[in-house]
Amino acid sequence: MKTTERDDGDPQNLFENVKKRLCSCSPDLRITPNVEAILKMPVRELHVSLPIRMDDGSIQVFQGFRVQYNDARGPMKGGVRYHPDQTIDTIRGLASIMTWKCALHNLPLGGAKGGIVCNPKKMSKLELERLTREYIQRIYHIIGPDRDTPAPDVYTDAQTMAWMMDEYSKISQKTTFGVTTGKPVALGGSEGRTDATAMGGWYIVREAAREIPLPLPTATAAIQGFGNVGSNAALIGSEQFGCRIVAVSDSTGGVMNPAGLDVRALLAHKQKTGSVREFPGSGPISNRDLLRLPVDILIPAALENVITATNVEAVKAKIVAEFANGPIDSEADSILHKKKILVIPDILCNGGGVIASYFEMVQNYNLDHWEKEEVYRRIEKKMMEAYRAVVELSSPNKVPMRQAAYVIAVARVVEAMRLRGWL
Ligand code: NAD
Repeated sequence: MKTTERDDGDPQNLFENVKKRLCSCSPDLRITPNVEAILKMPVRELHVSLPIRMDDGSIQVFQGFRVQYNDARGPMKGGVRYHPDQTIDTIRGLASIMTWKCALHNLPLGGAKGGIVCNPKKMSKLELERLTREYIQRIYHIIGPDRDTPAPDVYTDAQTMAWMMDEYSKISQKTTFGVTTGKPVALGGSEGRTDATAMGGWYIVREAAREIPLPLPTATAAIQGFGNVGSNAALIGSEQFGCRIVAVSDSTGGVMNPAGLDVRALLAHKQKTGSVREFPGSGPISNRDLLRLPVDILIPAALENVITATNVEAVKAKIVAEFANGPIDSEADSILHKKKILVIPDILCNGGGVIASYFEMVQNYNLDHWEKEEVYRRIEKKMMEAYRAVVELSSPNKVPMRQAAYVIAVARVVEAMRLRGWL
């Protein structure tokens, strides 16, 4: 298990990459080395062992984490990921990203992330439920609506959040909807949360495309990842923004059709077969080749570090929109900037998910329920505010959008720390 990986020189280490992005803001914000040192470390992390009885009667011990990065601006917030290749530095990197994302979108929240090293594809539903409940029992004392609220991430979903909420509620002896977000709508979840990340991402792509200019109804897009974010990105991109989705992939491989994929039919195919492969009317494409397609918009919506120094030269898209967290490593980032390919950074592009989660928290606090249209309207407003702030800083100075986004976010967190008297 690669849980202690801390290779500072590894360009694929997500935590190190995010730290580099933070350091690049220091001169602009005149951040002193001492303050930078605070920003570069999580305030708390919990490592837990989770012994689970498997369906065959054996006991297996899983490793789990919760990393609480910074709560200067409000309670911690961040997803929980179940993945076999998880490392503590991936979770630290994702918790750090959450901190800057919440600040950029001006949410009264800090940043956190959690994870369990496991392979959900090889576990039964009952095993996953036992694992999830054990995880909550072990991290119970550091989470809660005013402390830290988990949400779905890779290989966790609304059902996982329902189990977590239920376990927390049983321990605390009161139904506590607000302890998780991304729950089923029938159990305190918010309308529009499932596709909020993808919807929010497209609002930003729409604005960026206008600037180029690139009319979306004639644009082509390729999407890596066909889970919650990727499949909704394909659906919303084709049906609401008129884009031609020419290729998509999942962990098993990809499919392409230069004339455009029928995304609804593809979703039905994936639900039936478990994979996008062999979708009738499409040809195969590897995850590697999908990233090299001469499309207008490339959307990484799976895992981190998929565009690196080794493949960045082959990227031909006009816009790379980071619907996933951390898909471009820091070396590739500067090469894309030199190639004049517009990168829309994760903390801006995929903020729709945490914005909808924040709205779910607000509804839970008030035992309220908003219409879907209301949720989308509010997401769009928040996404546009962040986009305009980033563009106002990046365009005149010709700095990458990521640099501008980090400057805004870090300045807000530092201000909150100063006002609290931490500095
Ligand atoms: P998910 O588990 O629903 O889907 C993940 C997808 O990635 C699946 O289709 C899987 O097959 C695919 N995948 C896994 N390994 C792959 C590989 N090696 N190559 C290609 N595809 C691969 O997860 P998700 O919630 O859609 O999250 C995707 C990304 O979006 C992650 O980076 C996550 O942190 C980020 N994100 C998610 C949300 C959210 O609301 N769920 C919000 C913001 C950011």
